[in-house]
Amino acid sequence: MPWFKRNKQNFSTIRSPKSKLAIPGGLVHKCSKCFSVNYIKDYETNYRVCPRCNYHERLDAWERIAMLTDKDSFQECDSDLRSGDPLKFEDRKKYPERLEEYQKKTGMNEAVVTGCATVEGHPLSLAVMEANFIMGSMGSVVGEKVTRSMEKGIEKNIPVVTVCVSGGARMMEGILSLMQMAKTSILVAEMDAKGIPYITILTHPTTAGVMASFASLGDVIIAEPGCMVGFAGPRVIEQTIRQVLPKGFQTAEFVEKHGFIDCVVHRRELKTTLARFLRYFHDVDAAAS
Ligand SMILES: [Zn+2]
Repeated sequence: MPWFKRNKQNFSTIRSPKSKLAIPGGLVHKCSKCFSVNYIKDYETNYRVCPRCNYHERLDAWERIAMLTDKDSFQECDSDLRSGDPLKFEDRKKYPERLEEYQKKTGMNEAVVTGCATVEGHPLSLAVMEANFIMGSMGSVVGEKVTRSMEKGIEKNIPVVTVCVSGGARMMEGILSLMQMAKTSILVAEMDAKGIPYITILTHPTTAGVMASFASLGDVIIAEPGCMVGFAGPRVIEQTIRQVLPKGFQTAEFVEKHGFIDCVVHRRELKTTLARFLRYFHDVDAAAS
């Protein structure tokens, strides 16, 4: 039997800086809102929604299309449309250079993808905006593609759905961007006159010129939880009216409570909710004819 026995370890293991970085990439995801770390597999199965704080992380247009539509049903239209530079706009860089930069970054020609697809077997004309392309701003091509998507709905007598995410009109195209608000709104009125159902899905953030035109004109307006919905940002409003805004101002839940949004739907239920509305409109149409 030893005379001296060390029962307790009085030292600790110091990890080398290398071992700290030894987590393989793509294994975990850190939430942008609550900073909790979750396994990427759990996070992906939860439709890229944080399981702790319910934060709906941004999806790109193609991820959104894959999530909403039936497999291989989406047929893209007007993908070759590109913006010109009618105002010869230049700030930190020339507008055509900026467009090229975003085209390379996103692999898209503009900030919206349009086409026809089915959702649980129901056909629809779909326009999905892309936030990674100059913050989903609406220039003349975005306005034109959204308009054509609505025209397609009228031509084929099918519902039109737009998934919105936008910082508003594109300042690099000045007044031409603002004209898109009128153009798309006219088409919404035409769809209304012809009895074409129009559904909008608002995602974070949907603001300014897009919110003030086709995003807010749906027969049914659906929003994702926690998304910012409004015209000007809360800070600008506070500075203008010199009043403290109520808690949760401009969140989807706040706007729903005040009657502007029909329902706030978790991303995992978005496809089934959309299909339910499409089925309802289809049944109403069939009963009327
Ligand atoms: Zn979170």
